Amino acid sequence: MHFGGIYEDETVGKVYDRRLMGRFFAFILPYRRMLVTALLVLPLIAASKLAQPWIIKVAIDEHIVKGRMEGLPALAAGFLAVIFAESILMFAQVYLLQWVGQRVMYDIRVKLFSHIQRLSTRFFDQTPVGSLVSRLTSDIEVLGEMFAAGIVTVVGDILVLAGIVGIMLWMNVRLSLVTFSVLPVLIWVAFAFRKWMRLAFRQVRARQANLSAFLAESIGGMAVVQLFNREREEAEEFRRLNASYVEANLPVITWDAALYAVVESLSSVAVALIIWYGGGEIVKGTLSFGSLVAFIQYIEKFFSPIRDLSAKYSIMQGAMASLERIFALLDNNDREPEPVPSPEAATGTVRTDSRLTQALPPPEGEELRARMQACKGSPAHALQSICFNDIWFAYKDRDYVLKGFSLQMKRGEKVALVGETGGGKTTVTRLLSRLYDVERGSITIDGTDIRELQLPALRKRIGVVLQDPYLFSGTIAYNISLGDPDALKRVERAAAVVGADRFIRELPHGYDEEVRERGVNFSAGERQLISFARAVAFDPEILVLDEATASVDTASERLIQQGLEGLMQGRTTLVVAHRLSTIRDADRIVVIHRGEKAEEGTHAELMAAQGLYYRLYQLQFKD
Ligand code: ADP
Ligand code: MG
Repeated sequence: MHFGGIYEDETVGKVYDRRLMGRFFAFILPYRRMLVTALLVLPLIAASKLAQPWIIKVAIDEHIVKGRMEGLPALAAGFLAVIFAESILMFAQVYLLQWVGQRVMYDIRVKLFSHIQRLSTRFFDQTPVGSLVSRLTSDIEVLGEMFAAGIVTVVGDILVLAGIVGIMLWMNVRLSLVTFSVLPVLIWVAFAFRKWMRLAFRQVRARQANLSAFLAESIGGMAVVQLFNREREEAEEFRRLNASYVEANLPVITWDAALYAVVESLSSVAVALIIWYGGGEIVKGTLSFGSLVAFIQYIEKFFSPIRDLSAKYSIMQGAMASLERIFALLDNNDREPEPVPSPEAATGTVRTDSRLTQALPPPEGEELRARMQACKGSPAHALQSICFNDIWFAYKDRDYVLKGFSLQMKRGEKVALVGETGGGKTTVTRLLSRLYDVERGSITIDGTDIRELQLPALRKRIGVVLQDPYLFSGTIAYNISLGDPDALKRVERAAAVVGADRFIRELPHGYDEEVRERGVNFSAGERQLISFARAVAFDPEILVLDEATASVDTASERLIQQGLEGLMQGRTTLVVAHRLSTIRDADRIVVIHRGEKAEEGTHAELMAAQGLYYRLYQLQFKD
């Protein structure tokens, strides 16, 4: 199905990748104090775990068996104190680890989000939104599990295991050797298990990701799914993905259950060995009764961390896969373009910082001549206009969309771009805002190559109104100003300029009316008027309208038309129009055909020429 592209591969990953952990460690480093504190607690916890069976042994051997009452209350109190201390220490450890975990997750989220914000339009063309969202949510959550489930406490587990082996050997070497005869089997099982689980877990994670990617797309496009009666097919695909996820889980469950059963049996075998051999030792008088009880207690404590192995293994595997994906995203350097220093800037003839400001000092002499050459227009054009100079552009892996397109616009001029769908009109507007960069040729604004400008400075000068305006959740005032304090001051004036104030004032809450779900509670025309007001509030010198009236019905078109006039007042405007009636009074009309300029002139001139424009016009007004 069409979702094919968003699915993840199921290649086998590592459980512990030193390189990934090394990079992850850089995020933990700022919190090393807390982490070290948590680690220092570990030996104390281990000690208290080891002390408990020992206290029981002493109580039995020195008091109970010998019938000595005195000292028993003290031992019981000591036992209680040790357990109490262990609880407090456990609390501190869990809290500290989670504290570090939460902060590390916070930092990674911040870093990822600001990284994503700087990625190029090309990147977003190719990356499904769902996968980016899951990088920031579930992938980071899995890292948190590493802290929550106490992967770090494996160190503590190892201390306890080593301590138990030591104490048992010290108590009775022969009984210890007999008891630990089960160990080779345990070690073999653990290794075999590791190999089997690796593949199984990886598959589970990949299929889980597929499931959420599908959900994001299908729920996002629910209106289309419902309108085209695709519910059954979508449900079928979901059923398939859902089933394959469950299927991937089955081996994991099997191994998990098997491991549990094997560990449980082995610990029973060990206890049986203690009873059989240790019991004999007691009868012979070479082992105390208390030691036997302590042995059984220690063996219980020995096997319990091993029982958790599979859960910890799963978390570790998941964390590695998440780290891999997070770092792959952080390593993606398909950034938005940086300004390229111009030859003038390099030789120092132009003040570099002036490129950050809106107004440039008019170039003179040599420089003026150079710029006139770059923009094949008149000197006045070179200085006060937008100039597309023989631009070539192709989207990734595609044919050229623009093939040597040129266009000069005077300041304040209103130029319309028309032509067949797919001719490259939208692409021209994207190149002007540097959503993409031209491959050959150049675009200059007031004589400066836009590649020399800082992106924010460039985009501040250009206001873009898209065919399908994007509204955010928030009030109307927020949607017009986007939270910019300067724009906020101009909200009401901007709405009045484009004629949006009439309908806004009639709303129950006026400018404070909430916009829901990208503006479903407004008509297409109203949404468009809001986006016009947004463009005016930011007061750009240059305006780009891409099919801004296309989604509006004829009734609201007059309203929109009035709004447009207010919007374009005094601004250099490039308008892409589908409806030719809306651009009849443009200063100039440019017909773009398969990436090249086909015709250019006023409406009257182009009609008289009886070329492409004439035919397009005839087509639209046949009736
Ligand atoms: P117009 O606005 O004139 O209808 P566009 O500039 O949107 O045309 O598109 C020109 C060509 O570029 C079309 O063939 C279109 O399929 C292709 N195109 C547009 N956007 C992309 C993109 N993001 N990735 C790949 N190809 C694209
Ligand atoms: Mg278009």
